[in-house]
Parts: sequence; structure tokens; C-alpha cells
Amino acid sequence: MVNCGLHNRITAPPLQESRYLLDQFPHDVVDVRRELDIEDHRKTRNRLLWVYTDEADRQSIQTCLANEETIGTVLGYPECCVKRETERKRNMAVAFLRAIVDTVGTDPKKVRTALRDDLKVEVPNEIMADPNRFRTDQRYPFLLHTACDLCLQDDRSPSSRMNADNEALALDLDPEFQRSVSDIVALSCESAMLLGMDTSSWKEALTAQEQERLADLRNRSREIVQRLRGNPIEPC
Ligand SMILES: [Zn+2]
Repeated sequence: MVNCGLHNRITAPPLQESRYLLDQFPHDVVDVRRELDIEDHRKTRNRLLWVYTDEADRQSIQTCLANEETIGTVLGYPECCVKRETERKRNMAVAFLRAIVDTVGTDPKKVRTALRDDLKVEVPNEIMADPNRFRTDQRYPFLLHTACDLCLQDDRSPSSRMNADNEALALDLDPEFQRSVSDIVALSCESAMLLGMDTSSWKEALTAQEQERLADLRNRSREIVQRLRGNPIEPC
């Protein structure tokens, strides 16, 4: 890897934090959830590659891995958006465990079996889907995080400024790269609309015409990625 004065570190992802579940479920059910989270964490082969400029950032990474700080905060995403994302993930985790408990009851052994066997349960779509992902792509194609409602409404929001900064950086690196990112995100938004993701109501089946359109959008996206790979940006 070319260094360019950057530091890097490879770690496992942070362990899922589950203390917030204690307000909603019996202690022994939360203990089972935690036990299986630890088990999954030990088994995971997923790895995060951290790249940072300042040696002091190593400490921030450490606080994230220790679950004292969220990844979004360490990566410098706006506080309002990080807060929303944390709440959203918590709501999803609570809704999922609620669905498990509603199906098998609060006997810890049954909850453990259900989680281990990956029991399929119904969780309301409005909790699992995140329409802001689509809206963020549409409005701020150069963001890496999902913007909160306030950021999406305000041109002077921290997300809006971050999007402008990221776009300027992409342009500075290579105008072709900036155009390619913009085009890929636009194609992805069009695909999302075809699939109904913009309204969080996924279509059960697509018409032949829609399938053809989707395949065309994916091909165009692939072509742009291949073109970029064939013309990599020169490091440093
Ligand atoms: Zn925000």
C-alpha cells in the first residue's frame, strides 16, 4: 500500500452495544442477546481498515472499538445525523428482539434457540427501511453518511457543507472521478425508485420493462466503475 504519510490499522468491527435493551426486556433475555453478540463478534471475519493522518486519531479509534464512541462520531459525521442513525439502529434492534419475544416468549433458552437458528420474524417495514438513504443520495451524492431530516431540509446544514467539501475534493483529484461518482449515485437513485425504495415500499415484482430498465442502469453503473478502474487516480 502506498503510504502518502497516512497511518492505517486493521481491526474487527466494534462489538454491538446492547445496554439500551435493558429498558425494554427482562435481564436474562438481554443477557442472551449479549452472549450471542459476543459469539458472533468472535466468529466474524469482517475487518475494518482505518486510514488516518494523525497518530492521535488512534485513540479515537480505540474509543470506538471500546464502544465509548460511535463510528460516525470518530469519522467526523455531523452530530445530528449520528444521533439519528444511532436511534434508528436501536429501534431496529428493539423491534427485532420484540418480534422474537412475541413469537417464542421470554424463556431465555427459547430466545437463544430462536436467535441461533435465525428464526424468521416479521418486523414493521417502516422501522427497518430508511428512506433518508435514498433522499441523501438524491440531495447530497458526495456524502458517506445518511443525513438526518434537518440536514436534508437545509442548504446550510453540516451535511450540506460536508457534501460540498467532498465534491470539491473529488473535483480537485480528478474531474472525471467527480463526474463518475455523481453519475453512479444518480443511476443508483433511479434504480432505487424503480424498486420502490424511495417510499420504503419495495415492489414484489417488476414488469418486464422495469427489469430491462434496471438491468440497463446496472450495466451503465458497472461500465463507469470499470472505466475508473482502468484509469486509477495517481496516488499523492
Ligand atoms: Zn444532520
